[in-house]
Amino acid sequence: MNTMNTCNFEYYNTYIKKNRGISNCYGEVGSEMHDYIENVYRGNITDTSDFNQKLHNKLFELELMDLDFPSEVIKNSFVKDMDHFTKNFNKLDGEFTLEKMFVTNIKGKWLLGYIDAIQVDENDNRNIIDWKTSSKFTGSKLVDAGRQLIIYKLGLENTSGININEIKWCMLKYINVCWKLKNGNIKKKMVNRGKLIKEMKNTFEKEMLKSGMDEIEVGMILMLAESNNSFKDLPKIIADKYWLEDCFVEYEATEEVIKEVEDYIVNTIEEIENKDLHNESEWKPLDFDKEGTFYCNTLCSHRKTCPFIKEYNQKNPYKKSF
Ligand code: SF4
Repeated sequence: MNTMNTCNFEYYNTYIKKNRGISNCYGEVGSEMHDYIENVYRGNITDTSDFNQKLHNKLFELELMDLDFPSEVIKNSFVKDMDHFTKNFNKLDGEFTLEKMFVTNIKGKWLLGYIDAIQVDENDNRNIIDWKTSSKFTGSKLVDAGRQLIIYKLGLENTSGININEIKWCMLKYINVCWKLKNGNIKKKMVNRGKLIKEMKNTFEKEMLKSGMDEIEVGMILMLAESNNSFKDLPKIIADKYWLEDCFVEYEATEEVIKEVEDYIVNTIEEIENKDLHNESEWKPLDFDKEGTFYCNTLCSHRKTCPFIKEYNQKNPYKKSF
């Protein structure tokens, strides 16, 4: 459904003509991460010390396959985040059911899906967790991404009678730096894993100076911690007050949100059903001037064969990456 709403022509190629197309760098790394995490929770991997190496093997493979990131800057930032995640992987507590398939009927439409993980936590609550290697979602992207979690929740509750407590993403690129405020509340700051020390540097610096540490010593400690991007390189005064937690972002399934998702399902499926499968011209490409061409040039599985993006790139050589 997301494909249809992103680009009709991509949907037509993928699901009507059944052209497989090619993968992209984010999809490849995402699959590698998912597979590894799944194997940890299935008990097939108990020692995760090779997780980081697996990531770098995959990145090397991408280079050989010529699957480029949009730019070196974007690549470096993504790799730093993933590097930190794979070096600091924590297995969550609780019982897990993985890749759970469900078939359900929502507003008269049949849907099939696979849920990354259902966690039964220490309070016997059932939570749905979806691991994400993408950047955090804001605005309309949050609504787009949230539909998947809502469908999982509705699908599971409709078919199994299980009540789902929380639906959430585990955002692999991010980590929460936590500390207790004077009023007793816990403050959590979500930062990119690859910039963990850089983003917290000012706070940590103030804290160390306040404790009476020497300015030069503080500068040296922070310089080392930042170059290693390592929380473990910070002194006890910081470790006693601050701690790190994996970054979970909960999505709220309000009545309004559920209604939007139900309408989205019905409208998308009806739009597909109302198109002529044998008339390619009915399946339009996305609007490059409105949407930009990042998706087309980087993510779409038909980017090497699509005549529309090829023509657009030829006419607008300077806009190719945007
Ligand atoms: S390259 Fe762009 S226009 Fe072409 S199929 Fe993919 S998303 Fe659609």
